[in-house]
Amino acid sequence: MASPFSGALQLTDLDDFIGPSQDCIKPVKVDKRLGSGVAKIHIEDDGSYFQVGHDGGTRKLEKAKISLDDCLACSGCVTSAETVLITQQSHEELRKVLDANKTVAPGQQRLVVISVSPQSRASLAARFQLNPTDTARKLTTFFKKLGAHYVFDTAFSRNFSLLESQREFVRRFRGQADSKQALPVLTSACPGWICYAEKTHGTLLIPHLSTARSPQQVMGSLVKDFFAQQQRLTPDKIYHVTVMPCYDKKLEASRPDFFSQEHQTRDVDCVVTTAEEHLRCGFIAGEVFKLLQEEGVLLSELEPTPLDSLCSSGSAQEPTSHQGGGSGGYLEHVFRHAAQELFGVHITEVTYRPLRNKDFQEVTLEREGQVLLHFAMAYGFRNIQNLVQKLKRGRCPYHYVEVMACPAGCLNGGGQLKAPDTADKELLQHVERLYSMVRTEVPEDVPGVQELYKCWLQGEGSEQAGRLLHTSYHAVEKATSGLSIRW
Ligand code: SF4
Repeated sequence: MASPFSGALQLTDLDDFIGPSQDCIKPVKVDKRLGSGVAKIHIEDDGSYFQVGHDGGTRKLEKAKISLDDCLACSGCVTSAETVLITQQSHEELRKVLDANKTVAPGQQRLVVISVSPQSRASLAARFQLNPTDTARKLTTFFKKLGAHYVFDTAFSRNFSLLESQREFVRRFRGQADSKQALPVLTSACPGWICYAEKTHGTLLIPHLSTARSPQQVMGSLVKDFFAQQQRLTPDKIYHVTVMPCYDKKLEASRPDFFSQEHQTRDVDCVVTTAEEHLRCGFIAGEVFKLLQEEGVLLSELEPTPLDSLCSSGSAQEPTSHQGGGSGGYLEHVFRHAAQELFGVHITEVTYRPLRNKDFQEVTLEREGQVLLHFAMAYGFRNIQNLVQKLKRGRCPYHYVEVMACPAGCLNGGGQLKAPDTADKELLQHVERLYSMVRTEVPEDVPGVQELYKCWLQGEGSEQAGRLLHTSYHAVEKATSGLSIRW
């Protein structure tokens, strides 16, 4: 059974695979008062362990637990944390919050908000033989029956991610001579790729990463900042769940960068994936499909309910999407915008040229034989490794690269519905067709987006927009010093 994680985070069963750099290591805190120098640890048969002092005195040490934060701070892999993921971010956690809400007065409840990704919607549409719009509306009915208060579409937050990516690229292209933020700009919406970049080539790659937040994390800002203010609630009174195509998104939501110390809450509290998955540890990870099964609900039989909208003029009543493929359309949007903004060229159609395989393609803008813009998409870790080698040798010809960890991109994410082996390709093609059936939007023309730039973000390029729509990255040290336990 294949792992639900992207290639960056897997150990086995891969044909598109980066090996882990080390075993799962968790540093153990020792009590220095028991004597200086080398600590001696005694481990009992039941797994509990004690620090033994020089005078023979012992002190029981706290039982080690591996959290998602530990996984992000470690330069190894995270596969062995699957069980942690299940307990920390799962439909069980969502259920606990919904159940707790039933036992308290309405004023004491946490407001439950669920944001559904277009990729998950397409996968479920394929499973239940529905069109994507019906799927979105029936899912809204289902989540509201469960006790959710609002259901949003992350295609709306993707508008901000795309707009900020466009502006960032133009800024970096214009300032490339003296900019510390080097070209090519590498997209950052895929947490599997970010995990790999930070852990393996942090110094080389981080200056290239786009700082624009992913659609999931922009939605986190929207819900825990703008929407919380609208509802006159503090962010911790909202429980925000996203439905995503991969398990790596759980890691993204767990990044310390997206945790509010002030309110002790995350922008996204819980990530559930689309489909049922059997994990190597023996569990069946219950996600949206599992929730439906547990409730005995057939999605196709539910009445539809319109999606909620985050703002008065927003168009999220029906699901929307963007041009440029199932991973968000970063390359296409940035390419069109840059061609117009930098060279006054209006692009009617973006033409892709396949390189080594269909997951490594390039797009160019040329004038009189001169290449003005040179963009590429690199999906899957074989192509990512190739890209990294080019960067290492200083021979990367691109201005911008859309990088995704999964071969074929997000519609093929590890949390999506899988068909029995031979039918996987056909299923993916079907999901791609369903995904492309949804009405696409141009981010600049979405009235709700412009309204929010004005009233919430205080304008494009403002400090507020920078704080809520961008993030930063951190190289992870390879060496683990001090006393460590190998799991
Ligand atoms: Fe997740 Fe998409 Fe990245 Fe795959 S390509 S790990 S689905 S964000």
